[in-house]
Amino acid sequence: MVAVELIVFLFAVSVNILSSYHPASVTVTAGGREDTLTAYGNQVFVNRKAMERYENSISGFSLRWDSKVRSYAGSLEVMAEDGELVLVNEVTEGDYLASVVGAEMVPGAKIPALAAQAVLCRTFMETASRHQNEAWDFCDLTHCQSYKGLETTTSATSQAVNETEGLYLMYNGELCEVYYHSTSGGKTADASSIWPDMNHPYLISVPDPYCKASPHCRWEYVVSAEELAQALGFPNVKDLRVVEYATDGRAEFIAIKVNEEGLLMGGWEFRMEVCQALGWNTLRSSWFEVERDAGSFLFKGKGLGHGVGLSQWGAKGMADEGKTFTEILAHYFPGAEVKKW
Ligand SMILES: [Zn+2]
Repeated sequence: MVAVELIVFLFAVSVNILSSYHPASVTVTAGGREDTLTAYGNQVFVNRKAMERYENSISGFSLRWDSKVRSYAGSLEVMAEDGELVLVNEVTEGDYLASVVGAEMVPGAKIPALAAQAVLCRTFMETASRHQNEAWDFCDLTHCQSYKGLETTTSATSQAVNETEGLYLMYNGELCEVYYHSTSGGKTADASSIWPDMNHPYLISVPDPYCKASPHCRWEYVVSAEELAQALGFPNVKDLRVVEYATDGRAEFIAIKVNEEGLLMGGWEFRMEVCQALGWNTLRSSWFEVERDAGSFLFKGKGLGHGVGLSQWGAKGMADEGKTFTEILAHYFPGAEVKKW
């Protein structure tokens, strides 16, 4: 008998979890044991005992804080900083992706749409490094990719990750810069009409008849001139017009009349400023027309998000029509290929 020893190398990533909550105290349940962690200054108190840091290498744990509960795969390390706990989850790439795909993709999407999303999330992991000076690879917010542990992991998201194992989106032998958004509204955006310096040949506008079932395909938003002026930091907004549209339909330049002066603003910049001040459900995209109605402005728009790359509702629609994940990605990223890397 020959004993065969299999050594499995698991690629692990570290994620700063609960990063929007900044809890001062959490209860950790792992392997039948419960520990209460509290931050005082830069020290972690574990069941009232001061420690430099808390480590739990048991795979799988639950966190309870502010009457919320969340469970995770992988191990946990906790430090304290200025009276707040800093939690880092070390997790395999597969478990991380199965959660991220569920958090990012439209609910109810079939396997091919989830698999397309999995290839993009995996490619993003290799190309994005937004936390180089920190003790983790990713945060758990959309700044990197939304990650909520086991809350968004399903057998379907795990299947999508397994079926696409080792596959990336590539162009000319290099990993692509990947983008995705909720709903294009009928055609995707040219990356250059949103971000003028970006001109990847695979980030161009393509027709998107597949996103019709999205509730964000068409939208309207009314805002008073006063509220709009406040959002933009102007004393008033006397008039507002889109003066130039890009070929993908997005508003490229907007002329705003403040007092007697005319100002020009980029369409995307305008959308971002309005959303940052008034919420992300206001101007859902930069694909809109505007009408003036007495003291307010009526925006009639299409789609949700920047519109660049994969349309998630479109991917769901294509999967519902029986398309494969490679067909979905080939449609939204013309010329790019799904490959081992
Ligand atoms: Zn981040």
